[in-house]
Amino acid sequence: MTAGEVREIALRGPDFVPVLDGAAHVTRFAPSPTGYLHLGHAYAARFAHDAARLTGGRFLLRLEDLDPQRCRPEFATAILEDLQWLGLRFDGVVVRQSERMALYRQALERLRTLGVLYPCFCTRKQVREEIADAAAAPHGPSGERLYPGTCRALDPAERARRIGRGEAFAWRLDVARALERTGPLAWYDVRAGWVEADPAALGDVVLARKDVPASYHLAVVVDDAAQGVTLVTRGEDLFHATHVHRLLQALLGLPVPRWYHHNLVGDRDGRRMAKRTGALTLRHLRARGLGPAEIWRMLETAAATTPACATSPGS
Ligand SMILES: [Zn+2]
Repeated sequence: MTAGEVREIALRGPDFVPVLDGAAHVTRFAPSPTGYLHLGHAYAARFAHDAARLTGGRFLLRLEDLDPQRCRPEFATAILEDLQWLGLRFDGVVVRQSERMALYRQALERLRTLGVLYPCFCTRKQVREEIADAAAAPHGPSGERLYPGTCRALDPAERARRIGRGEAFAWRLDVARALERTGPLAWYDVRAGWVEADPAALGDVVLARKDVPASYHLAVVVDDAAQGVTLVTRGEDLFHATHVHRLLQALLGLPVPRWYHHNLVGDRDGRRMAKRTGALTLRHLRARGLGPAEIWRMLETAAATTPACATSPGS
């Protein structure tokens, strides 16, 4: 790695290890084995690790390998090797989402019984077209167009007919209905403080895909509860997902953790590390002779040289 490359790394603001009311945090690092870990992952893993270790808690590892198309066993193996190389030891056994489909199915069934799900038959292409057709398609927090809820209004008879003839469908969360059941909700982020939950901001999210009986949102909520996670630490790109997670916790009667949405490691142009090529994977840096100490120094330098601006998480 050249000095130029090091200078390119940036964090948007300060992070601090949260010590809250003397609680011992149970945290987790939850990567998807869809590629090799990069500097951004190292930052996230270290943050979760330190938050647990410095409070006498537990640091857990979960592999989010729901997607059989994109996840590969060799990447899962590489994650374990890289964490060991970094010197980040986790507690307990590795939890793999691909082995937990029965749990997700149970949670899904419970939500279905509550009447807060509906089947969505749309293909990706149809969703794109529906968004284009909807004069006032709702926008998400990042300006992305949201699913306009086409299948929510399907006639029950047609719905039954399409299911009957074996048409593939996903399950979507009827957010408005769900909120009628739960009433207003709030959640606590260590940096942002109390946040009023606004799950509608993400639209009627998919909770079970056509090909996988779960989705990111459902699996994360079920697993964090099952693993006893008390402080969910993750990048601020997932700040808005927490609105949905809080709603799912209320619907499923699960304990509510606290959250810390930390900085994302990016470059000076504001591009996220994850969007870059493989140049900054831990494997690559290791092959160039760097050790874990240099990795940590690099990340600390980035944090120290980044102007501490008062950006609100997720903005
Ligand atoms: Zn649909």
